Amino acid sequence: MLEIENLTVEVGGKDILHDLSLTVMTGYTTVLFGPNGSGKSTLLMTIMGFSGYNVKSGRILLNGEDITHMPVNERAKRGIGMMMQRPPNLMGVKLKDLVRVTGRGDIDPAVLAEELDMTAFLDRDVNIGFSGGEIKRSEILQLEAQNPCLLLLDEPESGVDLVTIEKLGAKVHDLLQGTSHCAGWRQKSGKAALIITHTGQILDYVEADRGYVMCNGTVACSGNPRELLAEIRKMGYNECIRCKINRSNIKENF
Ligand code: ADP
Ligand code: MG
Repeated sequence: MLEIENLTVEVGGKDILHDLSLTVMTGYTTVLFGPNGSGKSTLLMTIMGFSGYNVKSGRILLNGEDITHMPVNERAKRGIGMMMQRPPNLMGVKLKDLVRVTGRGDIDPAVLAEELDMTAFLDRDVNIGFSGGEIKRSEILQLEAQNPCLLLLDEPESGVDLVTIEKLGAKVHDLLQGTSHCAGWRQKSGKAALIITHTGQILDYVEADRGYVMCNGTVACSGNPRELLAEIRKMGYNECIRCKINRSNIKENF
């Protein structure tokens, strides 16, 4: 579904991503690990198409279409949806209006909100005064309404209590299982996800197939996500990355 080819991205006058390539296959969930500041959020923001993330070279393909320089709203229409690590406060924009505008067709914000205990938040300005967990629930509510084909989740479990993690995990699982409505086509069970996690807690709720470790703005290695996580926990990032690179020039198996 998503192919990133030799991407170099500049942010704030500095190259943050360097010659980065990765693939997310339709029907697969891919996990992204990496130390703080390695460029994980920058990658997701670039895939979503936010301004300020300038692609200097390389390409981003969505289902074969080159979206490298496409505006963010066009990417959303084509079925990319994102849960941001730190979404902005939207003064004067009520959550119910945002959900209605970004949602697909026949969704009822009230029904979705009730399932996430977000009913009281529908009439509030987006994210203003929301706690960490409430922001994450608001983000998942927006994703549910949008029902994207490709989910980009930036640390969905960070700052969230255990009960809320369970709720979010179940929702992400459901989102990946359900039918999506993408511009121009309808596909069943044809979704994919790229999920950034430090703790791996989200892996208790979604089955991940492939993991990548990012370091200094590029992919250092890839492999089974649970094995990578165990290795990172045991040896830290430096050892894990060195070990993997030395072991082989890991080839993509797809
Ligand atoms: P991660 O999500 O892996 O922790 P980020 O993608 O947030 O890392 O950041 C990668 C690097 O890019 C960091 O050093 C960060 O300070 C830098 N960076 C991100 N956004 C900007 C910006 N707008 N201006 C300057 N530097 C930035
Ligand atoms: Mg980040």
